[in-house]
Amino acid sequence: MAISRRAQLIDPSAIRQVFALAAKLKNPCNLSVGQPHFDTPLAVREAAIDAIRAGKNCYTPTEGIPELCEAIAQIYANRGIPQEAVFATAAVSGGFLLALMAVCDVGDEILVPDPGFYAWKDMPLAFGVKPVLLDTYPDFRFRAEVLERAITERTRALILASPSNPSGAVITEEELWTIAKIAERHNLWIFYDEIYEIYNYDRPHLDMCRYYPKTITLNGFSKSHSMTGWRIGTVVGPKQVIDAMLKLQQYVFVCPPAMAQWGALAALKTPTTAEVADYRRKRDYLLDQLSGAYEIVPPEGAFYLFPRVPRGLTGREFVLQALDHNLIMLPGMAFSARDTHFRISYANSDAQLQRGVEILLKLA
Ligand code: PLP
Repeated sequence: MAISRRAQLIDPSAIRQVFALAAKLKNPCNLSVGQPHFDTPLAVREAAIDAIRAGKNCYTPTEGIPELCEAIAQIYANRGIPQEAVFATAAVSGGFLLALMAVCDVGDEILVPDPGFYAWKDMPLAFGVKPVLLDTYPDFRFRAEVLERAITERTRALILASPSNPSGAVITEEELWTIAKIAERHNLWIFYDEIYEIYNYDRPHLDMCRYYPKTITLNGFSKSHSMTGWRIGTVVGPKQVIDAMLKLQQYVFVCPPAMAQWGALAALKTPTTAEVADYRRKRDYLLDQLSGAYEIVPPEGAFYLFPRVPRGLTGREFVLQALDHNLIMLPGMAFSARDTHFRISYANSDAQLQRGVEILLKLA
């Protein structure tokens, strides 16, 4: 039986191949994981368990429970950037899917930073939307001329994440102004992914919606509170687009998971400041240990390093060599049209990071 062309267009094989090989390793050092290594805070787990015990197991309103929607709205109001509309959804991935469906038609184009989170360049293909990559190498910064050159009459939206996966780059205020001006001139939507917002080590986090009103801001709890399996996130933005996204949510997800919403509400009252400080220390440790041996643009956020591959190898070749030394990482090609870099996740224990450093110094 044939499967759709759209399903065939999506190709996660770069990551699958590494994970298939990695599954055969005994006691590997795994620096490939894109999720925090601490558990979901106890208060969050208890809030969800309490909700289940209290029978809060049914459909919720499509947009999510009012308590969560109000709390999210309050966050942006407190920042002085009140948003017209707010809803909870099935994590940032779910919000991205709805944004894509609400804004783009078949044949449209969407601008995607390269390197960037792999779903961004693949998911649009499933909707007949062309991802147009914006080259941000070698320093992972946005350049006005690259952006201008990529825009056509079919361009509908631009995706941004700050801090970024895999580079850890954090967008500056100057870049946000530049992007806002260009987006305004071409009447683009901006999908702004703030999922690593709290892992922002060197500067305060900046919201795109402060600079550009046609921004759909996607956020979530997967990384901030180690809730990757809960599938809960939030969307804020102009009412017109949020209404369209909610119409789609009603059919796609119906509502976000009920118990996860109660957990998310508790998460908003449960800071993970100590965990973030620990990740900052881990970043500094890795930079200190590896910068002499590898070419690395110092990341200002998230929990990844994205060094250049040494010895003229491709990312894939290097990552396969590392697997031979029991070290799991991801090749740049999983995130990019290029395969010149590799991603290290430092969301791991100090002991594992030390192990990884020893292997990486040998491989350099
Ligand atoms: N956005 C970025 C930049 C990510 O790195 C990830 C996961 O790695 C996601 C979104 C997916 O997040 P969620 O679990 O909220 O769907």
